[in-house]
Amino acid sequence: MSDTKLMATYRRLPVSFQRGEGCWLWDTHGRRYLDALSGIAVCGLGHAHPKVRDALCKQANELVHTSNLYSIPLQERLGEELVRLAGMHRIFFCNSGAEANEAAIKIARLYGHKKGITNPAIIVMEQSFHGRTLATLTATGNRAAQAGFEPLVQGFVRVPFGDIESLKSVARKSLNVVAVLVEPIQGEGGINIPQQGYLQELRSLCHQQGWLLMLDEIQTGMGRCGRLFAHQLENITPDVMTLAKGLGNGVPIGACLAQGEAAEVFGPGNHGSTFGGNPLACAAALAVIETLANENLAQRAELLGARLLAGFADSLTGVAGIEEIRGQGLMIGIELDRACGTLVGQALDKGLLINVTAERVVRLLPPLILDDQQADQLVTMLSALLKTFLEST
Ligand SMILES: *Cc1c(COP(=O)(O)O)cnc(C)c1O
Repeated sequence: MSDTKLMATYRRLPVSFQRGEGCWLWDTHGRRYLDALSGIAVCGLGHAHPKVRDALCKQANELVHTSNLYSIPLQERLGEELVRLAGMHRIFFCNSGAEANEAAIKIARLYGHKKGITNPAIIVMEQSFHGRTLATLTATGNRAAQAGFEPLVQGFVRVPFGDIESLKSVARKSLNVVAVLVEPIQGEGGINIPQQGYLQELRSLCHQQGWLLMLDEIQTGMGRCGRLFAHQLENITPDVMTLAKGLGNGVPIGACLAQGEAAEVFGPGNHGSTFGGNPLACAAALAVIETLANENLAQRAELLGARLLAGFADSLTGVAGIEEIRGQGLMIGIELDRACGTLVGQALDKGLLINVTAERVVRLLPPLILDDQQADQLVTMLSALLKTFLEST
């Protein structure tokens, strides 16, 4: 690995996977691992799902790419489905989460300019994560990720996550705010779940102020939190919503959906993507959406999440060093009182794939197709690892 020609953007673990099936991955030595991360909330249907695999093979045999200079029937169909499922009006397809958020940010700015606001600002949150392009990095609430990339993009105002009062105070002071960009549950930031009612309050504040409510559902969406989209837990509809990660089950695809005025701001030449919404990616995403519905996987995520939380509460409550066990559906965080990055390698040694984020939070994002036995196995393995770790550090 030391002679790699790849730029050093990742500190990679010393393992390569060769094959996957469902919630299992096999490395190049034939060793099996339980995947409790899904390629960071991407493979919600697990690995090599037959429906996705068949859709991809069929489409690869027919047509992969034509560009958006021509109409793409599969993109139209996927767009119709997603817009209907989300109760929105229009959709733009791209290839990643950061690009989906870039589209949202551009929509907000155009929306502002059309209202005569020449210096539009977007409210973003502390500990947020929105991507690695310059604008989305600026929107991200992590100074370490931004350091060295200055000058950052203008036009962002930051407030604490989950605190409606600080938003109201911005509303009293600023006249150029056009939108709020927020994750329903913060993923990279440490599985931070706002108080119930936060999204509803945000929704009404945005209505009142004429701000666009822009939800980054790149990690929370596609069934992961127990509904197809996390905002459905609070019965609201955003003005703009971004998707990526779980949408293509591993095939790169992102989307920015909008309703109302926000859905109408883009015209020809305002935005675009060469690859965005190509037939191959759309075939994968259509198979994902169909499977999520047919197999009731959002509901399954909710049940599994409850099972996992109960299991962890059972085995870890009262253990010194465990600060909090929290989650919504299959987005689960176990917060410790100390940095715990080394747990990732220890879990790997035991055949378990997990993640640690925000230094002290073990993050679990298992596939939605996890079965009860695998869920229980996850609880047993991870609880044992955590106890050993906490006793020895
Ligand atoms: C992963 C993620 C992104 C960025 O997605 P990329 O596909 O890596 O560009 C943006 N927002 C959230 C909430 C994410 O979890």
